[in-house]
Order: sequence, then structure tokens, then C-alpha cells
Amino acid sequence: MDTLIVGAGFAGATTARQLAEAGDRVLVIDKRPHIAGNAYDRLDTAGVMVHEYGPHIFHTNSEYVFEYLSHYTKWRPYEHRVLAVPDARNGRAFPMPINRTTVNGLYGLDLDEDGVADFLQRVREPREPLRTSEDVVLNSVGRDLCEKFFRGYTRKQWGLDLSELAGGVAARIPTRTNDDDRYFTDRFQAMPEAGYTAMFERMLDHPNIEVRTGTAYEDVAAGIDRRRTVFSGPVDEYYGHCYGRLPYRSLRFEHEHLPRCGQYQPVGTVNYPNDHAYTRVTEFRHLTGQAHTGTSLVREYPTAEGDPYYPIPNADNEALFKRYEALADAESDVFFIGRLAQYRYYNMDQVVGAALALSRRLLPEATGMAGSPRGRPSPSPHTCTAD
Ligand code: FAD
Ligand code: UDP
Repeated sequence: MDTLIVGAGFAGATTARQLAEAGDRVLVIDKRPHIAGNAYDRLDTAGVMVHEYGPHIFHTNSEYVFEYLSHYTKWRPYEHRVLAVPDARNGRAFPMPINRTTVNGLYGLDLDEDGVADFLQRVREPREPLRTSEDVVLNSVGRDLCEKFFRGYTRKQWGLDLSELAGGVAARIPTRTNDDDRYFTDRFQAMPEAGYTAMFERMLDHPNIEVRTGTAYEDVAAGIDRRRTVFSGPVDEYYGHCYGRLPYRSLRFEHEHLPRCGQYQPVGTVNYPNDHAYTRVTEFRHLTGQAHTGTSLVREYPTAEGDPYYPIPNADNEALFKRYEALADAESDVFFIGRLAQYRYYNMDQVVGAALALSRRLLPEATGMAGSPRGRPSPSPHTCTAD
């Protein structure tokens, strides 16, 4: 065995495929009973395609990453839309990110784009520097919109106040003065036509790749002879939490199928910033376009305990991560990649970009993209960075 890869998510599968293409013999293990990591999707008992670990919408500005994944899937164009309900008692829903429709609807106004820009200019609380997520939100939309749309959602999602989170978290959500109600504005926005799991099956389908699911690193590592290890689990776990636990936020996913229901909600996701124990409800048929007599939903309940899903970006956690990173950097044959191992609030495309970059580092001689003949020029590499 040349390389042991821990984790069959985007980080592990991308690295596995690249190394295998270059001739490495690769063993991919995952402690879960399936591949695809958090992007795992499946048919529920009613036959509706659902995302086990919450809604995953693919979006990227990187043509390189999009082309790379296009070797393993066809795509269904999809632009995600989100509504937020600041007060569940009256149920009024407004576009999120905040846009012209949100401002006019909420305050009973009829402003044009310039009018919305003036309005925001009046209500915003200028902050400098933009250190925390509170700084970011108050600086762009001011206090009332912050309280209605951000503070409660953030408290629920992270168990922290906006002021206790790095600015990059809230900065993921733009503010718009026009009517654009798409959640993302990336150049490429699409869903894998047959689902994420099917895409991962193709990525991992290579004579040089062996996959063992239901296999934890700690149970098998000592018995596997290999040249190097690529680890995509939590970095603090790898080091036995020697400096203490890195905080990760978890979620509980409550799936529900509604038979004989054509449509539960008008858009893919509805956010509930100020009511309920869950943050958002996603109806999968919007994402997948699947025709069915019923519909399936997932509600996300944030929790402190449970599987790690989100690194929690703030200065203390970043400082603790840096200590683990120093250990990781000193390794000569263990490489850490992905959301949990790099403790970065990565989107899927950023993980693929980072894994392609790692593969290039490990295989300086392998310059072509998988699927394209060696030597043929490939699109210029683009290394995505986290927020
Ligand atoms: P993971 O997918 O977490 O894979 C790591 C794998 O390693 C896991 O399968 C785990 O079981 C395995 N593992 C860990 N430790 C061990 C061990 N000791 N032994 C064996 N196996 C181990 N991104 C987007 O771009 N768009 C979205 O819409 C989006 N929505 C999201 C919604 C939610 C609710 C969440 C939680 C994330 C979302 N993301 C989204 C982010 C996306 O899930 C991640 O960027 C991506 O899945 C990370 O890939 P990864 O390979 O780094 O990690
Ligand atoms: N957020 C919020 N209200 C919303 C949507 C997002 O306060 O209606 C904040 C919240 O802190 C959230 C962050 O913005 O965690 C990033 O949102 P995103 O939708 O990108 O989160 P993810 O999909 O990664 O859970």
C-alpha cells in the first residue's frame, strides 16, 4: 500500500483519485458505513433523494474545480433560494440574503435600488475594523435587520453571540440592493444529476483504489503498511487532543417525508432565525428536481455534542488550531486535508481545490487532471481559500 487515506469525503476522494491516477496504490477508509462524507445522499424509504447530513448545494467560481468534478458527474443546473421568517407567529417570509424585496416588504416601502442603498447607508452602524460577525452585520445592515435576521439564527447555530464569532462567518452572507434572490452568485451552480454518492462512486472507481467503509483509523492504523497517510478527520483527534479539544459545532438532522404533498414550501430552504429549536427547513425536491407524489424535508437542530460538522471560527479556536497545525506541519509522511483536518469553514469546492493542490504537492510529476491525457494542458490550477 502506498497511501492510506482517512475519510471518503471530498478531501479523501479527490486526493485518492489523483494519487491513483498517478499510479499510487491507495486504501481509503471511513468510519461511517458509506462514502461521500457529509455530502452523502440516498433515497429515503419513500424513494425521495435526500441529503443525510443536511442540504448540500454545489457552487463555485473555479472553472478548474467544476471541470474536475465534471469527469465524474453530469449536472443539473440549480440556483438555491432561501426565505427567512423573522417572526413565525405571522409567518411572513423575506428573501435571504437581504435584498430590495426584503427591505421594502419588511418596512412597507417602495424603494428602488438607489433608495435601498440610501436606506442601508442611514441604518448601518459603521465599524472599523470588521473583526467579529457582529461588526460585519451592523456595518452592512444596522441593528434592526441584525436582530431580525442574524442574531437569533447565529446564537442557535453556533451557541455563541455574533460578537464571539470571526467576521468571516456572517460575511458569507452578502447584502443586496437589487432584487437578486439567489443564495449564491457563483459562476457555476449545479447539483450532481444522479446525486453526490453516485459521483463519489465514480471518483473512487479505479483499479488502484480500495475502499473500506465502517473502518476507523484508530482501529486499523497500526496494521496497515504504507508510505504515507492523508488524514481528513479532526486534527485534534489525530493527536489525542493533546492540547485540548478543538471546538466543532454539531447538528441533529430530523428527516420527514410527507406523502401526497406536492410542495411544502416555495423555495429550497426556509430559515427561522427567532423561533423553533431548528435553524432551517429544507425541501429536497427543489434541489434535485425529482418528481414524486410526496415530498421530503430535513430540519437542522444545532448541538454542542455529536459528530463534528463545523469548525467554530474565532480567535481562541484559531490559536488552538495553530498549535495542532505546527504538529501537522512537522510530519513528513502524514498530510492533513479538509474541513475538519484544516479547521476551516470550507465549502465543497474549496475542499476539492485544496485536495487538488495537496495532490500536486505529493505528486510533482503528475501535472494533468484526472481524465485528461498526461501532458495535455489543463486549466490553470486555482487554489481556493477559505473565508
Ligand atoms: P467530510 O465530508 O466531513 O469527510 C471526512 C470523513 O472522514 C467523514 O466521512 C468521516 O466519517 C471520516 N473520518 C473522520 N475521522 C475518521 C477516523 N478516525 N477514521 C475513519 N474515518 C474518519 N458545502 C457547500 O459547498 N455547499 C453546501 O450547500 C454545503 N452545505 C452544508 C450543510 C451542512 C449541514 C454541513 C455540515 C456542511 C455543508 N457544506 C456545504 C460543507 C461540506 O459538507 C464540506 O465542505 C465537505 O463535505 C467537507 O469535505 P471533507 O472531506 O473535508 O470532510
Ligand atoms: N446567518 C444568519 N441568518 C441567516 C443565514 C445565515 O444569521 O438567515 C449567519 C449564521 O451565523 C450562519 C452564517 O450566517 O451560520 C453562515 O450562513 P450559511 O448559510 O453560509 O451557513 P451554512 O450553510 O454553512 O450552515
